[in-house]
Amino acid sequence: MALLQIAEPGMSAAPHQHRLAVGIDLGTTNSLVATVKSGSASCLPDEQGRVTLPSVVRYLSDDQIRVGYEALAEQKTDPLNTVSSAKRLIGRTLADLSQQPHYLPYRFGQSGQVIELHTRHGLKTPIEVSSEILKTLKTRAEESLGGALVGAVITVPAYFDDAQRQATKDAARLAGLNVLRLLNEPTAAAIAYGLDNGSEGTFVVYDLGGGTLDVSVLELSKGLFQVKATNGDSALGGDDFDQRLFCHLLEQHGLSQLNEQDGSHLLALCRRAKETLTREPEALIETAFSDGRAFRATVTRQEFHDLTRHLVQKTIEPVKQALKDAGVSKSDIKGVIMVGGSTRMLHVQQAVATFFGQTPLNNLNPDEVVALGAAMQADVLAGNKSGGEWLLLDVIPLSLGLETYGGLAEKIIPRNATIPTARAQDFTTFKDGQTAMTVHVVQGERELVADCRSLAKFTLRGIPPMTAGAARIRVTFQVDADGLLSVSAQEQSTGVQAQIEVKPSYGLDDETITKMLQESMSKASDDMAARARAEAAVEAESLLGAVSAALKLDADLLGETELAAIRNDIAALEGRLKNGTAEDIRAATAALGASTDNFAAKRMNRNIQRALAGQSIDDI
Ligand code: ADP
Ligand code: MG
Repeated sequence: MALLQIAEPGMSAAPHQHRLAVGIDLGTTNSLVATVKSGSASCLPDEQGRVTLPSVVRYLSDDQIRVGYEALAEQKTDPLNTVSSAKRLIGRTLADLSQQPHYLPYRFGQSGQVIELHTRHGLKTPIEVSSEILKTLKTRAEESLGGALVGAVITVPAYFDDAQRQATKDAARLAGLNVLRLLNEPTAAAIAYGLDNGSEGTFVVYDLGGGTLDVSVLELSKGLFQVKATNGDSALGGDDFDQRLFCHLLEQHGLSQLNEQDGSHLLALCRRAKETLTREPEALIETAFSDGRAFRATVTRQEFHDLTRHLVQKTIEPVKQALKDAGVSKSDIKGVIMVGGSTRMLHVQQAVATFFGQTPLNNLNPDEVVALGAAMQADVLAGNKSGGEWLLLDVIPLSLGLETYGGLAEKIIPRNATIPTARAQDFTTFKDGQTAMTVHVVQGERELVADCRSLAKFTLRGIPPMTAGAARIRVTFQVDADGLLSVSAQEQSTGVQAQIEVKPSYGLDDETITKMLQESMSKASDDMAARARAEAAVEAESLLGAVSAALKLDADLLGETELAAIRNDIAALEGRLKNGTAEDIRAATAALGASTDNFAAKRMNRNIQRALAGQSIDDI
């Protein structure tokens, strides 16, 4: 969540000198490196001419490390020492992982907040694994460009939180790369399509990769790129299509007893057939199993589309949600950008086209587009290109707020607010003479603090003693360009202040965010009831406090029956507070209010008389 400002002052190079900079798409499934040569961006191929590098790292027995296609091919035979999907682990804790519905076959450990994997090379963090991928791409680029890189722009999903971004930067540093900037993947795609050149309006980036779907709504205006909302499914991607075809073949051919090796081989063939079907109307799957049995099947495109239509439909829900969160409708969308290898599938393109009622932008290679955009930005940042100054803004994924009396969450910065941002709100004390106040910072959409995520707590001390409700405490929430939240509280009359810095999204993955959002929607009515009750309770407690304080001072003003009636109503209200509904509490509060009306009037008279005593008429 960084504010990205391009074309920084003082970064322009001498005119004759071209500084070598690259863009890197560090993907879950595949990674790529691209650069701008003679004004146009292209991906750099390996020696065999392949531009994609499978994001797989294998730690071999002879201290060697292998990255890419070979590692991928060997994964099944050496799963514990061959790490794929490190992007799912980077910047996460084991606790975060337990909320992911993913099976990853590694032996996990954790040191501090960082996940570790036991490999034959010892403990490896996802940061180290990712750095191997980055090193491979760095070497490829330097060999191909014939010089050392001044830096790289590395892309990350728009929903990556601060910890995930920081970890990605660490991986780059470990690989010896100078990170010019982290760039959001959808923004990189938009840049690759040249949308930064004067395009205005709202765009959707639909990114279906190997294992994940990421949907982003971007708004472009006057050189400002803004991510309005993100949504997606971290457990839906091309792999699910392979799997579906694989299961279909097993059923169709009665292959229940395939051993693991035959199984993974057939799965790989299914993936290849899926990819063939985007170019050809049918694909042939032919192999021999380890027991010598021959296997042969033909799959038509139509058949494959029918088998996987439900998966395609499933990708539309997050699209709808993202539009809703961004507060736009389909008809507001000026263009839809297709990103990720899986958007090559024709029924995916059709479904997206039908949903939006327009042909998506897909003339750039969907698995290269993110790297190309990153390369274009790297070129600008390295000072090779003048002009083009864009501001790229991000949003906060969940509302930030604080706990108010009664366990209620008061939102200060709403979800999807653009960062950087600062908002302030005034609060007051609840009790007479209260000199300290605890500020409990929470994140989430729900009404009750108990249902939100607690981020931090701090105490403001030294509030001058005043009657309840008289102090003015201004609480300011500030989220900086890097997504870091700081909260400060200041008592307005004395200026005493306390503050704290928090990382708002630390360790929160999109899964959790989605879950929290879903809960907030499905439980909205429960929450309203809980909120109503909590509010009624706050009012009741405040009245009880005031009445008991008054009784201590001025009970002598009351006759015996009147005093008994008040005590009776106090007891009734206390009972309601324990187990009554909001309605009950309000009724009992009103009753106590009524029975103390006369008492309040008598006290007021007494206070006026006291105040007047010793003053001359002229003073009044
Ligand atoms: P990620 O962003 O997750 O690293 P990619 O964007 O590289 O992933 O997408 C990888 C996925 O794209 C894989 O599931 C792969 O099978 C799929 N893919 C690549 N080419 C094609 C194709 N021609 N047809 C269908 N799917 C494809
Ligand atoms: Mg990708």
